[in-house]
Amino acid sequence: MRYSAVSVIREALRGHKGWKPAWRKATPAPSYDVVIIGGGGGGLATAYYLAKNHNVGRIAVLEKGWLGNGNIGRNTTIIRSNYGLPGNTPFYELSMKLWEGLEQDINYNAMVSQRGVFNIYHSDPQRDAYARRGNTMRLHGVDAELLDREQLRREIPFLDYDNARFPVQGALVQRRGGTVRHDAVAWGYARAASDRGVDIIENCEVTGIIQENGVVMGVETTRGRIGARKLGIAVAGSSSLLANMAGFRLPIESHVLQAFVSEGLKPLIDNVITFGAGHFYISQSDKGGLVFGGDIDGYNSYAARGNLPTVEDVCEGGVALMPMIGRARLLRSWGGIMDMTMDGSPIIDFSPVKNLFINAGWCYGGFKAVPAMGYCFAHLIANEAPHKVAAAYRLDRFAEGKLIDEKGVGAQPNLH
Ligand SMILES: Cc1cc2nc3c(=O)[nH]c(=O)nc-3n(C[C@H](O)[C@H](O)[C@H](O)COP(=O)(O)OP(=O)(O)OC[C@H]3O[C@@H](n4cnc5c(N)ncnc54)[C@H](O)[C@@H]3O)c2cc1C
Repeated sequence: MRYSAVSVIREALRGHKGWKPAWRKATPAPSYDVVIIGGGGGGLATAYYLAKNHNVGRIAVLEKGWLGNGNIGRNTTIIRSNYGLPGNTPFYELSMKLWEGLEQDINYNAMVSQRGVFNIYHSDPQRDAYARRGNTMRLHGVDAELLDREQLRREIPFLDYDNARFPVQGALVQRRGGTVRHDAVAWGYARAASDRGVDIIENCEVTGIIQENGVVMGVETTRGRIGARKLGIAVAGSSSLLANMAGFRLPIESHVLQAFVSEGLKPLIDNVITFGAGHFYISQSDKGGLVFGGDIDGYNSYAARGNLPTVEDVCEGGVALMPMIGRARLLRSWGGIMDMTMDGSPIIDFSPVKNLFINAGWCYGGFKAVPAMGYCFAHLIANEAPHKVAAAYRLDRFAEGKLIDEKGVGAQPNLH
């Protein structure tokens, strides 16, 4: 069933009785050509692009819970491609281009909103670093603008310009950046993949990886054994656990990251704003809630909920930048499990086990990457060669010292 204005009007006239489930609830077949573990954004996008762009046979996505229970439905929905390092800029720009055509491609309203991302700077050295990043982006054909204080004040008048502990000096802006409704991305990719014949199997936890002589043969799951000619891992915060099942280790630590939403307010913040003197980022949802977040909690954990000191730290960052939000009431907070690599960049690569591929280490920047991570991971699985824009995301870069440390903070997963 195609979604369109006509179908909405038709269903409204019929009392909305004709809508079909968005994806088939498949039961597991004995084996598949490709099995993807993880029904988050990465797993579902991979399955979709495998089915759409590559002739790989039967495909299944195995999800231990329900679609969208993981980070894809927990993030602060920000998309951008304002990266400055060679391995990163073309990859994230591919993702941005895919976001721009996504809703037409998958026939799903994911509320892609290119409302602009403003990274505020507070000192001369930070301005210079942002100018360098903006110039790199422009050299790659990515949009970037450096605003001074008065230009920024005209666009965002409510920041604390006159009495701030960290004076606001200006911003690096990517106007094509913005937000996307996160769970709609999971539902949209699931529906589009299912339409192309992918089996989406929920409540199916992978508990073991079956190998013979170093070659993957399938998986043990809570719904029985499922054979697989090729296997892709896309489980975000559980990446190390799955690698452990396959008998190797990843340079990844799992940490909790929290997000927050305020009570609904009248339209106030019409873009994405990030604080440059602390860790704080904010946008406003269409329902009116201020959606914001900051740092990870700072210790290793598989808990999907956080702690009050981080709540305080994030709120302090927000109030330092825009004191007026101090009067808003916090409605909800939640956490997600981040797979933090040692350089803050992801891994899309072969694994030490033949026919087992890994898509991991997205830290807390993987939502914006969902279309490109799916596109490039599908390319890797189908062609057994990395896609050119993801070729730097190799697992052996940690052993070889070819790190992609966008923030320049070193091997400190809690700082990326
Ligand atoms: C609070 C928060 C804010 C964030 N904000 C942003 C942001 O603004 N912008 C941005 O770009 N990124 C952001 N991120 C990061 C982004 O959400 C993640 O990097 C990205 O969603 C990870 O990829 P995914 O969607 O595939 O992960 P997930 O949705 O977590 O998918 C992994 C899936 O694997 C399943 N799974 C795990 N183990 C197994 C198993 N054994 N068997 C079967 N299935 C299994 C899980 O149940 C889960 O559904 C944020 C994350 C959080 C938590």
